[in-house]
Amino acid sequence: MAIITDLSGKTAVITGSNSGIGLGVARELARAGANVVLNSYTDTPENHALAAAIVAEHGVSARYISADMSKGDEARGLIETVGTCDILINNAGIQHVAPIEDFPAAKWDAIIAINLSSAFHTTAMALPLMRKAGWGRVINIASAHGLTASPFKSAYVAAKHGIVGMTKTVALETAQEPITANAICPGYVLTPLVEAQIPDTMEKYDMSREDVIKNVMLKRQPSKEFATVEQMGGTVAFLCSAAAEQITGTTISVDGGWTAL
Ligand code: NAD
Repeated sequence: MAIITDLSGKTAVITGSNSGIGLGVARELARAGANVVLNSYTDTPENHALAAAIVAEHGVSARYISADMSKGDEARGLIETVGTCDILINNAGIQHVAPIEDFPAAKWDAIIAINLSSAFHTTAMALPLMRKAGWGRVINIASAHGLTASPFKSAYVAAKHGIVGMTKTVALETAQEPITANAICPGYVLTPLVEAQIPDTMEKYDMSREDVIKNVMLKRQPSKEFATVEQMGGTVAFLCSAAAEQITGTTISVDGGWTAL
């Protein structure tokens, strides 16, 4: 049985995939033969160039579609525009850090909309297409914060716990069909977003880059190593393989031991 399956002919839609984990997942799925649809909320030549580079490297079909995942109608419109969706990766996400009494209501609403509600809208649109195709994978990029909490991240932790719960519900609703729904729970992954926080933290605490990484960022990650976007892509590809057909309604932690603490 193939652990990494041949995804030729499948179409994967990855929300929030012009950088970081989403882009890494898109590249890995394209490497496995899937046609991929990249997404973010801006329509720039750079975004379309990312899709063109995937076509050039992997010989699959790839395109970029701009749609704002903070808006339910645009999230639904993304799937409608593509018209087929065998693999749905709900990955778009933002973060804001503040004590709950100071947490701006607009930030709360945006985090719930982008990190949680967009997945409701895309999944609702994608499931009928998966049923029509007779095969489907819903893979939600949650977080270690879908299983555990940290202070000052109320909206993010609520959204990530929410998406883990929604994943289980979708799995039950599709349990007797060739469709699975799972969530991946990464610990810290070295994406451009995380990389950008290092210089500020170095300055704030007067620490070296190594100290910031090991003692601030990876404080709760026992491996003391970042997970990588390639590892996220590999985990997604595994969940698309025949070996994972009976894996549904669960979470896979890729967190260097964080949630074992
Ligand atoms: P990132 O900032 O590189 O990626 C976020 C993506 O979401 C980008 O492509 C961005 O354009 C997109 N996005 C943001 N707002 C959007 C909107 N309104 N509409 C459409 N797209 C939008 O960060 P990342 O680290 O790659 O994060 C990707 C996912 O992984 C997020 O859901 C995040 O919560 C999750 N995650 C990341 C880490 C980490 O350490 N990097 C850890 C756990 C979970």
